[in-house]
Amino acid sequence: MTLSEQYFLRAKEVIPGGVNSPVRAFKSVGGSPKFIASAKREYLIDVDGKKYLDLIGSWGPMLFGHAHPFIQEKLQEAIQNSFSFGAPSLKEIELAEKIISMVPSIEMVRLVNSGTEATMAAIRLARAYTSKDKIIKFEGCYHGHGDSFLIAAGSGVATLGTPDSPGVTKSTANDTLTAIYNDLESVKKLFEANPKQIAAIILEPVVGNMGLVLPKNGFIEGLRDLCNQNNALLIFDEVMTGFRLSKSGYQGLTDVKPDLTTLGKIIGGGLPVGAYGGRKDIMSMIAPSGPVYQAGTLSGNPLATTAGLAMLELIENNPNIYTELAKKGAQLKAGFDKISKDLNIPMFVQSLGSMFTVFFTAQEVNNFTDAKTSDTTLFGQFFHGMLNKGIYLPPSQYESWFLSTVISDEQIQFIIDSAFEVLENFKK
Ligand code: PMP
Repeated sequence: MTLSEQYFLRAKEVIPGGVNSPVRAFKSVGGSPKFIASAKREYLIDVDGKKYLDLIGSWGPMLFGHAHPFIQEKLQEAIQNSFSFGAPSLKEIELAEKIISMVPSIEMVRLVNSGTEATMAAIRLARAYTSKDKIIKFEGCYHGHGDSFLIAAGSGVATLGTPDSPGVTKSTANDTLTAIYNDLESVKKLFEANPKQIAAIILEPVVGNMGLVLPKNGFIEGLRDLCNQNNALLIFDEVMTGFRLSKSGYQGLTDVKPDLTTLGKIIGGGLPVGAYGGRKDIMSMIAPSGPVYQAGTLSGNPLATTAGLAMLELIENNPNIYTELAKKGAQLKAGFDKISKDLNIPMFVQSLGSMFTVFFTAQEVNNFTDAKTSDTTLFGQFFHGMLNKGIYLPPSQYESWFLSTVISDEQIQFIIDSAFEVLENFKK
């Protein structure tokens, strides 16, 4: 038995399912998860000493790879001044100012500790601002584990096949309306059926949580129009795409401005940080400047803000990373498209910048129903084949892979060659 296997057995006795976040458990792909001892640059090293080329990057934050020396140095400096104050500190202003300078639709921002907290607070605020109760979300989009979002959710919820979680009350579920991603008609119908009741539309403008799914031309613009016509707020959940697709997130790729944006992952540089922000008139409703309550003992934590600020400084000082990452993504896509053709295995290969997914399906994937046509058994076998070759993919079909700047072109080619060998073996 490997050490990882021993640890997993031990963990299962004291932690539900042996993990602190479900997808880590390898439940849908089978087998025992690797326990990680350390991580450096593009590699994860497990407790048995095996090294893996990491395509998860801590589910998004590690844009520059693990343990970047600049962030490490800033954290080492900051730690000398203690770890939590429970009172305001300068870094919080600096991080807020930096976020506002990088994401044009954000005029004011509140820091929290996770993406989940950010989305929960954002819809509470949207409800308070509009004095309406219902929200629209899209099937297959994941916005964290807040009650309102555990309806037809993506990511781990999709992976485990639990579309609606027990424990969410009927009345909460009734206030969440679900539409079909890339289908404006489905959204229009919800507005018509629920006149003057919809506070906001929340979405991943580019979806990572059903695997990577891109918005069709006009979809996001159409949502903006529908929100304007119905006095509803448009909330971009950029927890995944923020600072990943561009230095302004998805918003850097479009003219559409959301009213509110949620952020996480990269803004913490790997430490627990989330944020929500947007128009000043709306954000001013948050306590203590307004009546909408939201708080956090560790919010604005000095280590978390230090790591986040260092991360955003790295991004600002390296403006070419997005073009370089997009080149790597394109190389990976071309490689997988060729594998699909050469081995005659149906695949829909989707990439945007440093986000990437291979759906094992013959059809285009534009929404969650399409994503679910994927052969998840084949994905599971592929995942383990790649893991054996030392490549660590997200252990689920319904997740995006994340590239980092420290993965070289040669390593991209290694991923392509390895995938060919793994999939070729299944054909034999
Ligand atoms: N929104 C999106 C788009 C996410 O991808 C995630 C996490 N994967 C969340 C919200 C929740 O963030 P957290 O896990 O930090 O609570």
